[in-house]
Amino acid sequence: MTTDYDLIIVGGGIAGSALATVMARAGKRVLLLEKSSVYEDRVRGEWIAPWGVAETRRLGLCDLLVGAGGHHVTHHITYDESRPAAEAEASALPLSMFLPDVIGPLCIGHPHHCQTLFDAAGKAGAETHRGVETGDIVFAPTPSVTWTKDGQAHTHTGSLIVGADGRTSGVRESAGIALHQDPPHHMFAGMLVEGADGWDASVQAIGTEGDFGFLAFPQGDGRVRVYGSFSLDQRRRFAGPDGQRRFLDAFAMQCAPANRALVEGRPAGPLLAYLNNDSWTDEPFAQGVVLCGDAAGWNDPIIGLGLSIAYRDVRIVSDLLKSSDDWSPALFASYAEERAERMRRLRFAAALTAALDCEFGEGPKARRHRYHALQKADPMIGAHAFAVMAGPESLPPDIFTPEHRAKVLGDP
Ligand SMILES: Cc1cc2nc3c(=O)[nH]c(=O)nc-3n(C[C@H](O)[C@H](O)[C@H](O)COP(=O)(O)OP(=O)(O)OC[C@H]3O[C@@H](n4cnc5c(N)ncnc54)[C@H](O)[C@@H]3O)c2cc1C
Repeated sequence: MTTDYDLIIVGGGIAGSALATVMARAGKRVLLLEKSSVYEDRVRGEWIAPWGVAETRRLGLCDLLVGAGGHHVTHHITYDESRPAAEAEASALPLSMFLPDVIGPLCIGHPHHCQTLFDAAGKAGAETHRGVETGDIVFAPTPSVTWTKDGQAHTHTGSLIVGADGRTSGVRESAGIALHQDPPHHMFAGMLVEGADGWDASVQAIGTEGDFGFLAFPQGDGRVRVYGSFSLDQRRRFAGPDGQRRFLDAFAMQCAPANRALVEGRPAGPLLAYLNNDSWTDEPFAQGVVLCGDAAGWNDPIIGLGLSIAYRDVRIVSDLLKSSDDWSPALFASYAEERAERMRRLRFAAALTAALDCEFGEGPKARRHRYHALQKADPMIGAHAFAVMAGPESLPPDIFTPEHRAKVLGDP
């Protein structure tokens, strides 16, 4: 049966706009619908892991992101209250060690990242619309989406609908695909800082001291995306008119003297706090629909992999769509299987990272001290961090087990 489009993609964020670009380049008729009129800073990811950078290459999108100002970081430092700063800095990790030909993670502002991909989709031939309200979504017998723009309603049919509409996906809900969620482990707040000129733009860093854990990812030109973790019972810790200043002040840590540059910086965007957790879907597809990116379930942002996950989703789904004219649900079984294992492994890595870095007090401090000491003798103790950088498939399955977790945390 003839449809108006091959693909109707709901959500023009990272996953939706990337998929629209790739499929339009492959000659498919693509309609891309985005709710927002302007991409705003919602404090989302601005750091793409090396394995995510490799995915952007495979999709033919890496040069676009670098050309749009993407900034590579080349070294990582883990500070901690249980060891001197000089020791942490002396063991700075070269980030080119994880994948051949990837010099390190790529940083790019999320709103600019979305706009760059959305524009690329249009240039590649996709029909793109902003400021859209989606209404009825029908998946069978012929998928269709009703959407409104400037008070005018439209209904279009497509061979397939893609839900790339983020965490609260309406497409997922309309398709009756259940979302499972872990309970939150900690609070996670983020903000863009400018004027942090003293921060080495080639270095990313993390660290924990007292009741606060920090992460810092330089974006170039004195801008640094910073995040902070703190306990769930301090949910409103940085609320109020002086919240941004108090948030930056929390980065003043004895164990991380370089953070002085962050404290001296200025807020360059909103400060937003989230409850960090993991989520997943059993099957990110149904008759007439497939989900990509956060809509299909997200990983705890503590390990910063949502963008890499979205790009891998897009690569796998676009390869499948290009490989066959039969876009019935069976086509996506291999995607579901790969994603389930990928997200299981990343859930494990995130939970281990959160237990190490986002628990506070004397017990967790002693545990981190032990972890850093053990790691010197046995690098496999830190293998979960390798999965974050090189991809969850890069390690043997026995790393993602309760036995390995107990070994890392020193639990009996
Ligand atoms: C605090 C925090 C820090 C993070 N840090 C990192 C990091 O450092 N690195 C990393 O890789 N990941 C990080 N992430 C995760 C990452 O930002 C997300 O996983 C990623 O943005 C997902 O992309 P997406 O396209 O699936 O969703 P989104 O980027 O959320 O895009 C969804 C799009 O759909 C649109 N939309 C929604 N509803 C509709 C509708 N009904 N109709 C049309 N359009 C609609 C939205 O406007 C939006 O543009 C972080 C997340 C958080 C919360």
